[in-house]
Amino acid sequence: NRQIWLVSRPQGEANVDNFRLVESETPPLAEGQVLVRHHYLSLDPYMRGRMNEGKSYAEPQPLNQVMIGGTVGQVVESRHPRYVPGDWVVGMGGWQEYSVVDGNAAGLLRKVDVSRIPPSHYLGAVGMPGVTAWYGLVKIIEPRAGQTITVSAAAGAVGSAVGVLAKQRGCRVVGIAGGPDKCAYVRDELGFDDCIDYRQYPDLRALASALKAACPNGIDGHFENVGGTVLDAVMLRANAFSRVALCGMIAGYDGQPLPMLNPALILISRMRIEGFIVSEHMEVWPQALAELSELVGSGRFRPRETVAHGIESAPEAFLGLLKGRNFGKQLVKLVD
Ligand code: NDP
Repeated sequence: NRQIWLVSRPQGEANVDNFRLVESETPPLAEGQVLVRHHYLSLDPYMRGRMNEGKSYAEPQPLNQVMIGGTVGQVVESRHPRYVPGDWVVGMGGWQEYSVVDGNAAGLLRKVDVSRIPPSHYLGAVGMPGVTAWYGLVKIIEPRAGQTITVSAAAGAVGSAVGVLAKQRGCRVVGIAGGPDKCAYVRDELGFDDCIDYRQYPDLRALASALKAACPNGIDGHFENVGGTVLDAVMLRANAFSRVALCGMIAGYDGQPLPMLNPALILISRMRIEGFIVSEHMEVWPQALAELSELVGSGRFRPRETVAHGIESAPEAFLGLLKGRNFGKQLVKLVD
C-alpha cells in the first residue's frame, strides 16, 4: 500500500519536499472492518490549510501520517455485513492506495451507485464540492428567477456547480475564470450566460467595467471562491440587498497577501456577506445530492475533471491546484 505522508509544514509556499512517498502493509481486518481499494483520490484546496499549524476551521494534519482526503473505490474484503467485495464506496481514505475502514462508524463510508454516474463524480459534482455549491447558492444567496448571479473560479469543481444550479433556478449567471479555454467551457458547455476572463482585466476598474457590461442589471448574488480583486470588483457592481456566499479565498491559501475589502461598499449596497463550511450543514446533503445526481445522471451537467495518474503524482497535482493549473475537479487516478 503506497501512501503519501505530510512530513514538514510549509514556510511560505508549499512544495514537494513537504510530502514523502511511503510503502506500508495493510493490517489484517478486525471484525466490522472493510478493506477498500481507492480508484480515485480527491485533491481539494482545504488541504493546504491543514498543512499549517495555526488556527483554521479545520484541524491541522498531523506530521508523519497519511494526508487526509476524500476517496472513491471498491470494497475488496469485508468483515462487515453491510459491505461485500465489489461495492463502490465514498470515504475519507486519504492519500493512499488502500484503506481499512470501520464499517460501523457513522459517515465514514457511503455506498454509491455507479450505474448512471461515473465513480469520480462522487468526489466532485455529486460530492462535497457539489454540496458546497448547493449550500452557498440555495441557503445563503437564495436566488430568485431573473436575478443576476456571479461566481468566481467558475470552471472549477464548486464554481461550475454553482452556475448550473443557478441556471436551473432561472437566473442570469456570469462566471469569472482564468483564460479563454475555461471561459469557453463555462459559456458553451455549462450554459452560463457569460464568462469574464479576469486575466484580461488586470486592475480593479477594468474588471468592474467588464462586470458592468456582462451584468447590465447589476449583481444580486455572488459566490466567492477566490478572494482578492474579483470580490472588490463585484462589490462595486452589487445591487442593494445583494448577498455574497463567502466559500473560499484560494488566492491567499499559499501565503500570498489578499487585498482588503472596503467595508463602506458593504454599507452602500446593504449587502449580506456570509461565510460557511459545508461539513457543518450535514442536514442539506441528502437534498443537495439528490438534485446534483439528477443533473449529472441525466447528462444536463457534464462536470470536467483534471486527472493525474498514480499516487506518486499527488503532491505535484496538489501544488498545481493551488496555482490554478487544474481545469475542473482535480483528481488522482489510482487504478488503471
Ligand atoms: P477549483 O476546482 O475551483 O480549483 C481552484 C481554482 O481557483 C483554480 O483552478 C483557479 O481557476 C482558481 N483561482 C483563482 N485565483 C487563484 C489563485 N490565486 N491561486 C490558485 N487558484 C486560483 O477548486 P474547488 O472548486 O475545489 O474549490 C473552490 C473554492 O471553494 C476554494 O476556495 C475552496 O477552498 C472552497 N471550498 C470551500 C468549502 C467550504 O465548505 N467553505 C468546501 C469546498 C471548497 P482560474 O484559473 O479560473 O482562476
